[in-house]
Amino acid sequence: MSDAPVLLVTGGSRGIGAAISLGAARQGWRVAVNYASNRAAADAVVAEITAGGGEAIAIAGDVGKAEDIPAIFAAVERHFGRLDGLVNNAGIVDMPARIDEMSAERLERMFRINLTGSILCAAEAVRRLSSRHGGKGGVIVNISSMAATLGSASQYVDYAASKAAIDTFTIGLSREVASEGVRVNAVRPGVIDTEIHASGGLPDRASEMAASIPMQRPGTAGEVADAVLYLLSPQASYITGAILNVSGGR
Ligand code: NAP
Repeated sequence: MSDAPVLLVTGGSRGIGAAISLGAARQGWRVAVNYASNRAAADAVVAEITAGGGEAIAIAGDVGKAEDIPAIFAAVERHFGRLDGLVNNAGIVDMPARIDEMSAERLERMFRINLTGSILCAAEAVRRLSSRHGGKGGVIVNISSMAATLGSASQYVDYAASKAAIDTFTIGLSREVASEGVRVNAVRPGVIDTEIHASGGLPDRASEMAASIPMQRPGTAGEVADAVLYLLSPQASYITGAILNVSGGR
């Protein structure tokens, strides 16, 4: 049986998460590809990893449902027998709206998936990785957004606030578990060409924003994945509590 390290990527089936899953497999991780509902996309990522000689499984589970989260981690343990890293990547936007158009239901869903889900997943990971719990250490990378610093006025201030909370959580958690063998960092993507923009009603957002980005183009999922893979790697062994912008200068 392989003793290669095991990485769980939430929302690892499409977009940035899929690029992280594929890139991690190329670097020798065994990968648990979590998804919410699109089984075919998750299976395609697993098939591509397997075809390349890697090892992966698809695990269904909604990080916005507290009861799903322990089940996701239990499935990772059942299949691989260990966990070494977590990428808290699953996240959503919503339709562009001003604050005076936002409902309590919208806010509750936004924070439940983007923030509470990430915190609950990190808690499950720490219970397995931290030396305080008998673990061998490990690494967590949270996917934030440049929206955390820009605020996303007239588009989705709720999303921006959920990501700013991810930044604060990253700093606090990194200090909490630094002496227990667990590193915690975040990556802030700028405008990245994925399907998330269509899910927020703006399918052409990435190309339309190009002129407002200092590098004059949106980023790719692979470019974000490369930063995440670095933070996961031993090359980042003294980095914790860092938040890395991957945003073309935005
Ligand atoms: P995406 O293309 O919409 O993909 C989202 C992925 O997350 C899918 O695999 C989806 O699974 C999964 N997912 C969604 N809700 C989930 C839930 N409740 N539980 C588990 N999995 C869930 O998104 P993306 O653009 O790659 O974004 C990934 C992360 O980067 C998000 O946190 C996002 O906020 C952040 N980000 C993106 C950009 C950008 O411009 N794209 C910029 C800054 C930050 P299904 O296929 O099953 O739905």
